[in-house]
Amino acid sequence: MTATVSGEALAARLAFGPPDRELLRQILSTQQPDEIETIRRAAEQTLLENHGDAVRLRGLIEFSNRCSSDCRYCGIRRSNRQLDRYTLTLGEIVEAASWCAQRGYGSIVLQAGERRDAKFTRLVSAAVRAIKAATESPTLPRGVGITLCVGEQSADTYAEWFAAGAHRYLLRMETSSPELFAALHPPSQTWSSRLQCLKSLKTLGYRVGTGVMIGLPGQSLDDLVDDLIFFRDIGADMIGMGPYIAHEHAVLPGGAAIPDGATRLQLALRMIAAARLLLPRINIAATTALQTLAPDGREQGLRFGANVIMPQATPNRVRRLYTLYDGKPCLDDSAKQYAACLETRISSVGRRIISNDWGDPAKH
Ligand code: SAH
Repeated sequence: MTATVSGEALAARLAFGPPDRELLRQILSTQQPDEIETIRRAAEQTLLENHGDAVRLRGLIEFSNRCSSDCRYCGIRRSNRQLDRYTLTLGEIVEAASWCAQRGYGSIVLQAGERRDAKFTRLVSAAVRAIKAATESPTLPRGVGITLCVGEQSADTYAEWFAAGAHRYLLRMETSSPELFAALHPPSQTWSSRLQCLKSLKTLGYRVGTGVMIGLPGQSLDDLVDDLIFFRDIGADMIGMGPYIAHEHAVLPGGAAIPDGATRLQLALRMIAAARLLLPRINIAATTALQTLAPDGREQGLRFGANVIMPQATPNRVRRLYTLYDGKPCLDDSAKQYAACLETRISSVGRRIISNDWGDPAKH
């Protein structure tokens, strides 16, 4: 009885407008099943009111695992010597992007490790141009929408890629806490430099996505509340976040240093719901890392307010080598099998795929 009353009281507060810090904290921390369901419903309702039932797709092409950064949590960090390194050719990248366009994925994400040498920056420019040219069609007159996710770069490089035709950029802040950021990265990678990159991407006119990892060693609930406020204050157009999952050759620990898998999944779903309630109009991804912790993790993400899915479109021959964390799903499925099960999964939660569309929300 008490539980029902608390669910109703919470529903009334959630309907009142964007959550404040205190309410965000409650969204993340409640253990009451009826409150959790109330939160989920409110987030889903907000999503449906602002975006309808359409799920937007971005085919994910992980085109290189070479990396000059040394993030302590990441499996493709520079100092992991136990990994074969690859970079797809321009032709392979364009082929993967064309495959996405043919499947009706109106957008792609080009993701890779982080490099700033001219060979790399030119490859990205060339790939963006070639993909645009190869995917133009009557349904997509300007080709597929391109999101880049290749880390911190100079403003000039960002400008060059924008001019080539990329219009979205995904750069996770990883955490809004400068102290935690410092614990996750070597001293050469700084919180302020990451923030500066996000600001220059905005200034240049990109639609900017950011996000954090959830359940990191040393991360508190208040850190996560700060992350949500950070997303709002930076004017994020998109959020991609997921649970932290340890990698055997990374430095950052897993095991007892972090909450167990079920807790991290719950926390990640609540973060999605909280972000949706705080920022109704933005795109929010149900990320692959959710699926690592539960087979239906991404569908759950959709039910908690996400509206973007990034289907795997990396060529099979290299997919195993892009292992950011242990247990990454779908490593064996062919991209074709994967695309086939996607539709079923999305309709299982009452949503439908929007095809041949860039899938940007209206400017807010
Ligand atoms: N070099 C690009 C792409 C990095 S990988 C960039 O810097 O943006 C994309 C994201 O994977 C990272 O931003 C990070 O949030 C996530 N990631 C890396 N290692 C992870 C881990 N062990 N667990 C969960 N997510 C991880």
